[in-house]
Amino acid sequence: MLFPSLKRDAHGSAFGQQLAAGFPALRFVAALEKDFREYYLNFNIRRVRVAACIALVMLLSVIGLDMVGSGEAVPESINPLRLGIMLPVLVFGLLVMLHPDLRRYHQWLIGAVSLVFGGVLSYGAVTAGIAGATHIFASLVLFVLYVYLFVGLLFHTSLLVSTLVAVGYVVMGGLLGLPGPLLFYQAALLCAACAAGGIGAYTVEHALRTSYLESQLLYELAQRDGLTGLYNRRLFDDQVTRIWRQARRDRCPVQVILIDIDYFKVYNDLYGHQAGDDCLKRVASTLNAAAQRPFDLCARYGGEEFVLVLYDPPRDYAEALPERLRREVAALGVPHEGSPVANVVTVSIGVALATPDHQRSLAGVVQMADEALYQAKEDGRNRVVFRESYAAVTTGSFRVGKRAESDAA
Ligand code: GH3
Ligand code: MG
Ligand code: MG
Repeated sequence: MLFPSLKRDAHGSAFGQQLAAGFPALRFVAALEKDFREYYLNFNIRRVRVAACIALVMLLSVIGLDMVGSGEAVPESINPLRLGIMLPVLVFGLLVMLHPDLRRYHQWLIGAVSLVFGGVLSYGAVTAGIAGATHIFASLVLFVLYVYLFVGLLFHTSLLVSTLVAVGYVVMGGLLGLPGPLLFYQAALLCAACAAGGIGAYTVEHALRTSYLESQLLYELAQRDGLTGLYNRRLFDDQVTRIWRQARRDRCPVQVILIDIDYFKVYNDLYGHQAGDDCLKRVASTLNAAAQRPFDLCARYGGEEFVLVLYDPPRDYAEALPERLRREVAALGVPHEGSPVANVVTVSIGVALATPDHQRSLAGVVQMADEALYQAKEDGRNRVVFRESYAAVTTGSFRVGKRAESDAA
């Protein structure tokens, strides 16, 4: 594991939990497994295509060699099988692999192509072995290693394919009359190839799964604020731009709610920085609970400032939510003896609601919420100031349509 401390730091994350729980059977919980397989596919695709091309060149070479007669010991029935089964199956597999829409069938496809190859190679090696050309068996050992390490199969699938081929070879050898001692020796070699390839494939996949979890976890941690666990400002800036673009396409409103804790400097001075941190966490989790719909976004905007963005909020909800948030924070009942407005921690909230069009900018709406927050502070704190843009809004210059203020309860 590259970053041992990640195990400790990320209990809230599904990736962190999976890292901590381990995955000796090379399987994640269902939701992660699906994503990992997609990642695995992308990770492998080029290598798999190269492996298939190499297999094609090798196949054409042995077909050519046998046609010009350098492989007299190989039974004549083998080349028709190579030409009639292996070649078309491989070409079909390659074509499917080049088609982007068929990617989700790759594991099945590679497994099936490998089984067909294993079957024909086994038959070839058994019949050649009976005819005295025991060296042909080497192609089967190469095949087993190839299946484990190069064709992009997950460990479990490659284990299944190579075991089926090895067992099939031994059964076929027994039925077709391969001499006992030779069969025994070859079976032992196949077992050794399966074990060596299997250990290699297991180790590689385990390392790949670990690096997948760690990179996802690091990515997730980079988006979060370390203290509150909310999304950080960087992620907010990124996401809110997407939300805005989406709202412009759908012609629906976006609501920006800026929340700032009242007299927080005094709170820190009175109760200490640690208590201040605890208070921030409690306020953050109250606000975060309000971001429930798929596009809703709650982030830590700055020191003791938070932002909530709602995409296409229903009218009643848009009007009621900020006041509800203000009440919920007060209802936490965090004592604040130094606050002139209440004896508990309170927040001031500035709200802006606007539907994007070519005259309204995102920065303009955020600034409108900021001005509303400033107004809430000016008017005495522990209150909501709501601004809605009916008219054109451009960056830094607004005409304010309506203001609904609710005073402290
Ligand atoms: P106002 O009602 O006007 O918002 O007054 P205020 O004191 O809340 O605002 P001001 O901007 O003067 O002070 C904000 C304080 O928030 C100052 C800073 O020490 C504190 N703060 C910012 N980030 C953190 C943090 O992560 N932890 C703690 N404990 N305090 C923080
Ligand atoms: Mg403040
Ligand atoms: Mg502030």
